[in-house]
Amino acid sequence: MSEIYVGLGSNLGDRGGNLRFALRQLALRSSLRLRQVSTFRRTAPVGGPPQPDFVNAVARFETSLAPLEVLRRLQDAEARRGRRRRIQDGPRTLDLDLLLYPGVSMDETRLTLPHPRLHQRRFVLEPLAEIAPSLPLAGGRDPRQCLRALPG
Ligand code: ADP
Ligand code: MG
Repeated sequence: MSEIYVGLGSNLGDRGGNLRFALRQLALRSSLRLRQVSTFRRTAPVGGPPQPDFVNAVARFETSLAPLEVLRRLQDAEARRGRRRRIQDGPRTLDLDLLLYPGVSMDETRLTLPHPRLHQRRFVLEPLAEIAPSLPLAGGRDPRQCLRALPG
C-alpha cells in the first residue's frame, strides 16, 4: 500500500460539488481509499486567460495501484465531469493531479513525479501544509518551508 497525494481543482460550474464528485468517484473501488482531505480553498487563477476563481483541495489516499493506474483513474474521473482539454491553463470543471507517489520519481510527458510545479504552487502547498505538515518535498523541505520560499 502506498500513501499518495492528489491535487483537486475546479473553476467551472458547481466547483465544490465537482471536487466532492471526484473524491466519491475515486473512492468507489477499494483500490483507492480516501484517508484525509484538506479544507476547500478559493484561490485566484494562476496564468492562462481571465477566468473565474478556483476551488482547490488536496487529498491523501492509500492505494494498491501503480502510478500510471492512479493517473488513469484520475483522468477517468475528469472525463466523467466533462473535462475538455481545450485552452492551455484555461478554465476547467475538474483538474486532478497526482502530486506525490512515495519512492517514485519519473519524468515522462504523460506522468511526471513528483508533480513538477507542486512546490511552486501556493494553492497546493497550503492544503498540503494542513494535512501533511512534515511531508518532505523538494530538497527535503516541508510544505511550510516551500511556502516561505515562494516569491511575494
Ligand atoms: P495541468 O494540470 O498542468 O494544468 P492538465 O491537467 O491538462 O494540465 O494535464 C496535462 C497532462 O499532464 C496530462 O495529459 C497528463 O498525462 C500529464 N501529467 C504529467 N504528470 C502528471 C501528474 N503528476 N499528474 C497529472 N497529470 C500529469
Ligand atoms: Mg492536471
